[in-house]
Amino acid sequence: MIKNYDVIIVGGGPAGSSAARKLVRGGKKVLILDKYSFPRLKLCAGWITPETVRDLELDFTSYPGGIKKYNKLHFYIKGIHIPLPTTQYSIRRYELDDYLLRNSGADFELHKVKEIVNHKGKFVIDDLYESEYLIGAGGTNCPVYHTFFKEINPRAYDDEITTIEEEFPYDWKDPECRLWFMENKLTGYSWYVPKENGFLNVGIGGTLNGMKKNGMTIRDHWKLFTEKLNKKGLVTDYDFHARGYSYFLRKRVNTVRAGNALIVGDAVGLATLDMGEGIGPSVKSGLLAAESILNGTPYSVDSIPKYSIPGIIFPFLRKK
Ligand SMILES: Cc1cc2nc3c(=O)[nH]c(=O)nc-3n(C[C@H](O)[C@H](O)[C@H](O)COP(=O)(O)OP(=O)(O)OC[C@H]3O[C@@H](n4cnc5c(N)ncnc54)[C@H](O)[C@@H]3O)c2cc1C
Repeated sequence: MIKNYDVIIVGGGPAGSSAARKLVRGGKKVLILDKYSFPRLKLCAGWITPETVRDLELDFTSYPGGIKKYNKLHFYIKGIHIPLPTTQYSIRRYELDDYLLRNSGADFELHKVKEIVNHKGKFVIDDLYESEYLIGAGGTNCPVYHTFFKEINPRAYDDEITTIEEEFPYDWKDPECRLWFMENKLTGYSWYVPKENGFLNVGIGGTLNGMKKNGMTIRDHWKLFTEKLNKKGLVTDYDFHARGYSYFLRKRVNTVRAGNALIVGDAVGLATLDMGEGIGPSVKSGLLAAESILNGTPYSVDSIPKYSIPGIIFPFLRKK
């Protein structure tokens, strides 16, 4: 028998679980569908701002995962070291997403969404699930985006960020978060992000277009970066098995709602133009989408900031 819900959310990342938490509190019957069981691997450096901590209502005393606090971010721009005093945090997505999903209060089913049809005013998913509202929180390849928004909200392929990274247990000695910008002509940056409980995340992100222009691939940049980590003694004697993923910066956003279908997070493409920060904007969009469903108000992402650190040099932003 088909299962009926007020709202179905495709994708259990921060965008989906934030929307779910608010909708459940508002009295809605909510189902989250995800193609993976949680906890699951999500490629992400796991840097979050104090604002995101607030939006997520993360209570450090009861959060079961590790949260590392930084009092500075160390920027390196063309070899110049700029220590920026600021309070920032890192988490492991493996832990955070599982925690948020469990705390959302929504029902969860392990299911890879393939077909979505609109039948007599209801969304029907793979002939198994049905709802009045549908939220697409499936990230870059979200099926809700592909079914209802691809034509009306085309991706800004100029602003596709390609990344490669690895998170692994490592007995790091340097506890600082370090970010190297525009090295080897990369339109982007590489990072060294130590985490609590003996984990480390290192990676690189940059615009695909920029790399093509310079005749380099992300793997070429990765090779140079890992050699540098080794030379600096930051990561030594480690056999990397890095993986890649791509997502979109915040550029063209025509519409985020089509009837009762709404898209949030990476399904929209909301990562900040300077730092490629996507968790905070995803959470904010999830909360705004939920508010729109609960109060019948318009849903817009216009209030979500486009920059993480206004006033600092922007590696991803370039003149068109
Ligand atoms: C290497 C890398 C490093 C990053 N570092 C940072 C950082 O340090 N800080 C930051 O703020 N942002 C960072 N980002 C961006 C951030 O990870 C994303 O913006 C954020 O995860 C988006 O959240 P989301 O909930 O929209 O999507 P996701 O977290 O991608 O969740 C989408 C979910 O949808 C599910 N799904 C997809 N398709 C289907 C389907 N057909 N059926 C069912 N389920 C489906 C997936 O399994 C997944 O669980 C980084 C991104 C990358 C790639």
